[in-house]
Amino acid sequence: MEEKKLERMSALRSIVIDHYNQQLDAKDEHNSSTITINWDDVQMEMEQQRLNFRSNFEFALLSAFSLDPVDGYTTEKVKIDRELFQLIANYVQQSDAVKTNKIAAIRFCRFLSSEATYLNSEQKLFIRSIADRIIEEDIQVQPIIVDVFIALTQSSPENIQFALSIYERYIQTNFELKITILNLLFNGLLQHQMEKELYSFMKQYHHFLTPDFESIGQLLRLLAKKSTFVKEPKMIFDVFRFISQSNFSLIDKRFCTTLVEKVMKHKLEYENIQSTKIHRDGKCSCCGEQLPGVTLEQFKELKANFRQIIFDKNDQYMIMNLPEYEVQLFEFEELMRNTRQSGSSRYDLVIDGLNISYRRSATLLPDKTGLRTYAKVYKVKDLDQHICHILQFNRVFERFQRILLIGRDHMKKWFALNRLIRQNKKHLDHCFLLNRTRDDNYILYAAVQHPNIRILSSDYFRDHQTKFNEWYLRKDNDGSIDRPNLPLIFNRWLRQSKIRLIDDHRMEEPNRFDMRIHISPMTNQAEPRLHFPIVTKVDPYQNEDHEYEWICCTKGDNKPGKL
Ligand SMILES: [Zn+2]
Ligand SMILES: [Zn+2]
Repeated sequence: MEEKKLERMSALRSIVIDHYNQQLDAKDEHNSSTITINWDDVQMEMEQQRLNFRSNFEFALLSAFSLDPVDGYTTEKVKIDRELFQLIANYVQQSDAVKTNKIAAIRFCRFLSSEATYLNSEQKLFIRSIADRIIEEDIQVQPIIVDVFIALTQSSPENIQFALSIYERYIQTNFELKITILNLLFNGLLQHQMEKELYSFMKQYHHFLTPDFESIGQLLRLLAKKSTFVKEPKMIFDVFRFISQSNFSLIDKRFCTTLVEKVMKHKLEYENIQSTKIHRDGKCSCCGEQLPGVTLEQFKELKANFRQIIFDKNDQYMIMNLPEYEVQLFEFEELMRNTRQSGSSRYDLVIDGLNISYRRSATLLPDKTGLRTYAKVYKVKDLDQHICHILQFNRVFERFQRILLIGRDHMKKWFALNRLIRQNKKHLDHCFLLNRTRDDNYILYAAVQHPNIRILSSDYFRDHQTKFNEWYLRKDNDGSIDRPNLPLIFNRWLRQSKIRLIDDHRMEEPNRFDMRIHISPMTNQAEPRLHFPIVTKVDPYQNEDHEYEWICCTKGDNKPGKL
């Protein structure tokens, strides 16, 4: 269905562009100065080609040439020149729909704002006037409000100022809307290089911001370029502090020179800027600074909310309706309680038994995303042997004191594994869950009992990340009240707890520090130490397994070998 819609959009686009090109040729021939498109002809041609759109023609036109996702689907990016853009804009603006229908009007504004550099001052004003009307009438429909803020924040500095004067009332009740609006404002301030407003804005809202590689790069350029930051170098440190506390603070290698040469050396006059290695425990091999990971406070917050987020509606259903599942969870929690009584008996490793038994190597099963399909190419015997191989190869029973192996009932029949379990009773408990249980939940739940517990798994637990994201953006009665940023804490905790298997069998301990910009101390000081994660290769599979280099920046003291 959607594909058909996209096809029709692209057909409409071709018709318009053909007409436009014909007019361009005619213009050259007759030396005329203006170009017009006969829109009736365009519509006629559409009818001839049986292109029907449910919305009216103007809407279809906006969608066909919009650079933004409209109606929930994304049209491919089309770059059109200023003249064609203005021809479309002028035509749509004259339409009855835009004149009489506020939703049409705001969508038109959104279209306008997609090419801010093409806009004339009347169009910028027009956007503001429509926004003003919608606000005066107190329309509270979320997609419309979002469109208003997209149009305002993308179109001009004046319109961003206007957005800054009205946004507060929209971030009081709906948390998801709040996050959306704050990030739109952030990006708008950045695009339009309004560094003073940006600074105050970030100071207030950095916890809610989710920059990306590109916006962090732009931010670095702004730090390098704007004179505001020459007079007040303290502000640059603050900006680094803000980003370090946002949802994303990694630096793409492309912006490394800007960071090192222009900001750190030129503006801040840092002398010791070096490429460094950070040990797994977080210690910088260059300056000795200890980079922190998830704090105990954050961990406690995660743990306190874990059960209710991880066991979602489906699990609740099973638990409520099938007594054996309820008993299973009850007994599992009993086990958790008993084992954490005393320090020596608590687990230090939780093994995702079923997950690691499967080999992911491409020769056996091409599976780029790591999202394994349980294809029947595996024989039980292979799985059984492989998990035993992993445990023995990595000397797991020597490296860990108390291990909990979680699997499913059918693993009782794995001969080698069960022999290994018997032989290592002292170190190894196992818990084979009912076959239809989602064992992932139990693995994470067991692991979150103590901050030092490691998880052995190749799973990325993306479903669980989604559960945390949804919990964070949930609608509830106290939409205005801020929530702990558990999606971020979960992400970091998992990263810092999970032992990965390299080449399907060699265990690799996790880094125990946050992958983000680190600046210490966090409170004001003239010359803090900074550590920057530079991403040299972005993970193509979107599991955030990037390749990093770290840069250590200190002032005054120690060490040769400048970058
Ligand atoms: Zn260092
Ligand atoms: Zn192996």
